[in-house]
Amino acid sequence: MMPAMNARSPFRLHARSSECPARRGEVHTRHGVFQTPVFMPVGTQATVKAVTPEDLRDLGAEIILANTYHLFIRPGHELIRDLGGLHRFMNWQRPILTDSGGFQIYSLRDLAKITEQGAAFRSHLDGSKLFLSPEDAVRVQEALGSDIMMCLDTCIPYPASKEETLQATELTARWAGRSRAAQNRETGQLLFGIVQGGMDRDLRARAVADLVETGFDGYALGGLSVGEPTEMMLEITEHTAALLPDDYPKYLMGVGTPENLVESVCRGVDMFDCVMPTRNARNGMLFTSNGRLVIKNSEYRNDSRPVDESCTCYTCRNYSRAYLRHLYMAKEILANHLHTVHNLHYFIGLMQEMRRAIEVDRFAEFRKNFYAGRNTAAEGN
Ligand SMILES: [Zn+2]
Repeated sequence: MMPAMNARSPFRLHARSSECPARRGEVHTRHGVFQTPVFMPVGTQATVKAVTPEDLRDLGAEIILANTYHLFIRPGHELIRDLGGLHRFMNWQRPILTDSGGFQIYSLRDLAKITEQGAAFRSHLDGSKLFLSPEDAVRVQEALGSDIMMCLDTCIPYPASKEETLQATELTARWAGRSRAAQNRETGQLLFGIVQGGMDRDLRARAVADLVETGFDGYALGGLSVGEPTEMMLEITEHTAALLPDDYPKYLMGVGTPENLVESVCRGVDMFDCVMPTRNARNGMLFTSNGRLVIKNSEYRNDSRPVDESCTCYTCRNYSRAYLRHLYMAKEILANHLHTVHNLHYFIGLMQEMRRAIEVDRFAEFRKNFYAGRNTAAEGN
């Protein structure tokens, strides 16, 4: 094992691929260590939908993500703080990352107004007027007690003009400086900066330089997977990840498909989150080593095989495709649970496989086998 590279960083490097920028490491937080590359299941409303924290532990989840915007609106960060913080509130004692709310506000941008001071927006629940400054976002995340906090940022739509991209990128950098200044360093919570810059390589480089000058505990690539072509997303990921300091965690927000996870690890990314495994599970779309399986398809009506014959998850050990299809067609809520268990097992297992491949320096071989097993050409993208 290589020694710690930077005592001020929460990141420790274990191994590097000699074939690509992929790296194997760990991140230290006040609720323990998680191994990277890592996939963080999304627990938007202080719950990963349809599974318990015990399920998550059994599945090998080491860190989850919760959404500041949603918890700020309901039930409120002060209530959660008064009840002992988010870990106690939801009964999860491993690390939690909270996003800043920037992406949700971006998603609701018809209801939002961004100014130098912060984001004014309306609650999607009751339409009430709310305001979140960069300082507020830090304060809310401190009240929630998450282990990794994210700076409030301004996400840039795709496509966007150079001028719009420049202004949003510079505003995000100023907000990042204000976030760092507002942070209470006594809590031991980590704060990550978010690199914007749209699809412009020069602006991405400027955004990295600005954030590094302020100095954060980790760096996230924001504003990707917002509708741009996959090749562009991967190109900007590769470009930006290479510019980020090597001794800090690198987090690609909101990505993505199994294919994009493999490609982004290969480009040097350490951390990921996405609603895909959990949301698609509830829609009856299951991930397997052979590609995707849509459980409602009539071909599974009397199929006695498990979802994935090579999968060792609770669902695949105990239930047939025919049974899962029946539950789904009958709208039984158990389908949500069993499908979510399987999909999270797949995503978490995929990251475990990638970590092992980097450790033994066989990432290229892993990647080749990953694509060789998949059943449609479209999934190679
Ligand atoms: Zn399974």
